[in-house]
Amino acid sequence: MDDQIICIGCGAVLQADNAEEAGYLPASRLKQAQESADEGNDIYCQRCFRLRHYNEIMPVKADNDDFLKLLNSLSEKKALIVNVVDLFDFTNSLLSAIKRFIGKNDFILVGNKFDLFPQNSRQSKIKDWMRQEANRIGLHPKKIFLVSAKSKTNLPELIAYLDQNSHDQDVYFVGTTNVGKSTLLNAVIDQMGEIQNLITTSRFPGTTLDKIEIPLANGHFLVDTPGIITKNQLATRLNAQELSLISPQKQLKPVTFQLNPGNTLFLAGLGRVDYLKGEKASFTVYAARGLYIHRTKRENADSFYAKHLGELLNPPEQSAELPPLKGKEYHTKEKSDLLFGGIGFITIPANCLVRIYTPDQIGLGIRRALI
Ligand code: GDP
Repeated sequence: MDDQIICIGCGAVLQADNAEEAGYLPASRLKQAQESADEGNDIYCQRCFRLRHYNEIMPVKADNDDFLKLLNSLSEKKALIVNVVDLFDFTNSLLSAIKRFIGKNDFILVGNKFDLFPQNSRQSKIKDWMRQEANRIGLHPKKIFLVSAKSKTNLPELIAYLDQNSHDQDVYFVGTTNVGKSTLLNAVIDQMGEIQNLITTSRFPGTTLDKIEIPLANGHFLVDTPGIITKNQLATRLNAQELSLISPQKQLKPVTFQLNPGNTLFLAGLGRVDYLKGEKASFTVYAARGLYIHRTKRENADSFYAKHLGELLNPPEQSAELPPLKGKEYHTKEKSDLLFGGIGFITIPANCLVRIYTPDQIGLGIRRALI
């Protein structure tokens, strides 16, 4: 249909039939929008409009099948594929599914939200860890970048690379929701001197729908694709209020607790670590500054959790329908980071036996200490 109008925010086709689907505008507004678009104005769907002006989310169903179709088409054409990942939820934002679609194409990994890492973080160490994790699931990125869409750290290097590699192909940005893909693309466009702020960004998962193509001066496109929603991301299970409490806004400031075996630490109601065996040790927590951390005795931990969940231990809110905490044991052979994907990490020394928990083990993991 050639009278279709595209929302300039999320790329969805505007429609007045279903308020829950992408691109919705009430029928009366849609008519006005049609006239306004004819006059060359930019049109936003109701959802993007509210998001931009009131920072308010309107839930919408995103269809991962469409995304798979889009990815499928990639293996048949020449393209540079950019997987944007969240350095704080790295394992869960790495898209193992794309290896089927990469074909002969170039593929790079961009770790976003680097601004949150403490100042003394070594970039080479972080990149090594990213490469190992990617290789482990069969992904072999040609290059790895650490950037911050927010503070613009390392953006010039990324842009120079995209510039050099977009002469004969389009550049596809892919990623799971909430990794900051839209914010990054906005920042890239901004610095490239092309169109500004056309993509909707927000703290809420799943804001970019359908694909949106941004023309480059060289005749090719930067293409933003929908954020894929995975069950393995805590972000997709929390409401806006909860998400804002666990999302760090500023550089992480470590907070250290001295723990004896038999102690438990709670990261609000979303994470727990039991110190099972080892010497008295420092547990250094890297998480959002406002996140409530509570130390208690392991023998009291279950009853404490049952009593205070949703109140003192918040998020999650009382009404949240999250799966219960589920634990996994780790024994550290070297100084290690215990990973709580989406929440943060805890650095502990070698020779500790711990059990760490999140709802249904979402985002649990371990790595050699980065700091
Ligand atoms: P998308 O779903 O991947 O498109 O993610 P958005 O661009 O909507 O961003 C998701 C959340 O991450 C928002 O709350 C952003 O403010 C935040 N965010 C994005 N980029 C950065 C970054 O570089 N640093 C930090 N600290 N937060 C970021």
